[in-house]
Amino acid sequence: MTHPVYARIDGPVILIGFGSIGRGTLPLIERHFDFDRSKLVIIEPNTALSDDIAKTGYRHVAEALTPANYRDVLGGLFEAGKGFVVNLSVDTSSLDLMRFCRENGVLYIDTVVEPWAGYYFGTDDNADRTNYALRQKVRDEKAANPGGTTAVSCSGANPGMVSWFVKEALLMLASDTGVTADPTDRVGWAQLMQKLGVKGVHIAERDTQVRTEPRQPGHFVNTWSVEGFIAEGFQPAELGWGTAEGWMPANAHSYDTGCQAAIWLEQPGAATRVRTWCPTPGPQFGFLVTHNEAISIADYYTVGAAHAPDFRPTCHYAYHPCDDAVLSLHEMFGSNQIQDVHYILDVNEIEPGGIDELGVLLYGHEKNALWYGSRLSNDETKGLAPDQNATGLQVTSAVLAGMVWALENPQAGIVETDEMDHKRCLEVQRPYLGPVEGHYTDWTPLTDRQTQFAEDLDEDNPWAFRNVLERLA
Ligand code: NAD
Repeated sequence: MTHPVYARIDGPVILIGFGSIGRGTLPLIERHFDFDRSKLVIIEPNTALSDDIAKTGYRHVAEALTPANYRDVLGGLFEAGKGFVVNLSVDTSSLDLMRFCRENGVLYIDTVVEPWAGYYFGTDDNADRTNYALRQKVRDEKAANPGGTTAVSCSGANPGMVSWFVKEALLMLASDTGVTADPTDRVGWAQLMQKLGVKGVHIAERDTQVRTEPRQPGHFVNTWSVEGFIAEGFQPAELGWGTAEGWMPANAHSYDTGCQAAIWLEQPGAATRVRTWCPTPGPQFGFLVTHNEAISIADYYTVGAAHAPDFRPTCHYAYHPCDDAVLSLHEMFGSNQIQDVHYILDVNEIEPGGIDELGVLLYGHEKNALWYGSRLSNDETKGLAPDQNATGLQVTSAVLAGMVWALENPQAGIVETDEMDHKRCLEVQRPYLGPVEGHYTDWTPLTDRQTQFAEDLDEDNPWAFRNVLERLA
């Protein structure tokens, strides 16, 4: 594999967070950008990582960014109008950091809209803990301050890469159904989705990576940030709410401000099961964990007015994490205790054969459903990039793609991945994604549905959310 150098980064490269994603992103930055090594700085408060950071040879600032210090810490590193802040931390406000970067003409990228510490558990008002609230503030900032220095919001695997997959999947579906398609703007893409008869999109993921050692009771095991997963898992379930839906759960809340593209449910996402489909397992349960892309995709593909759209897809995450994470969630919700030991699976302790199958399932159209995505194995990952498992590489390669796009489009303002050139981004990312494939299926949420217990189903609309959401009654 050759490693093209895509661009030069003048000025400081500031990596915030040296967790699983930070340490996986660093070697890709080293490979694909020309920069001054003396100007790369890693901000990471966890001193248990100090030795690892020392081995990289880069400067280490061992401080946690806070609302009180971020302007001083970052400001002390900035060179106005130059450099790149790559935010791969938890507990730092994406909005505050991107605003400060843009004030100083510094490029910015992150992989989620992260809040300052305390947001996820600091209030009893569930509406205030939603991704809708987090994302809307970033959209409001974009509207209030259009253009200017580029800040890429949410360029990970999901959110991030999956938005590029939605576009590829639409083009594949158009081609396979004889529809001419060459959309050039948001309205064009939304109209294409509507024309193709897509009713909704699952971000359908199956992580089959397992560790050689069994999980110990009291350990939360995952293939990426445990802290990040627990935080989002306890947020309310949220989904983009499409125009094809006729029924809404009784505990759902909708909006009359902002983009109005989503609803949230009065229940934690990681305890909410939905029916979905991935190529390896076929039908499976996934968890309806809230994610930025569920809202951004529903918003981006809206045709007509926000409050009364002609068309909008339903969109949500349907995540089957690695089996150890499923058991960890089961233990956590059952005991009402967050485990003390948090463990991220290392690439070298994962059994051969494990993959992270992450794609988008476009459903409800003429060909029923199309899954399009990456089926990257851990074994292949080892040969592609150091210091990360398959899950990590899908994320870090999206960070790389987002950085390349930002350097090529430095005055694009605040953007989400739906708003970027998906072909260019996938061109950069694809060498790291293993097999990227489209698979059609004739499965629907009603297929082989067990009927011994009466369920309140919508028999006429197989893909209705009423059939997708697992309910007790
Ligand atoms: P991690 O928990 O392994 O690492 C996060 C790091 O942030 C830790 O090393 C921690 O010490 C550091 N940190 C904590 N508080 C900080 C502060 N105040 N200032 C600076 N650093 C701080 O997490 P990870 O797996 O590397 O994930 C990093 C981020 O990427 C998380 O926000 C996660 O949600 C996100 N993520 C996004 C995707 C995606 O596909 N979009 C996928 C995986 C992770």
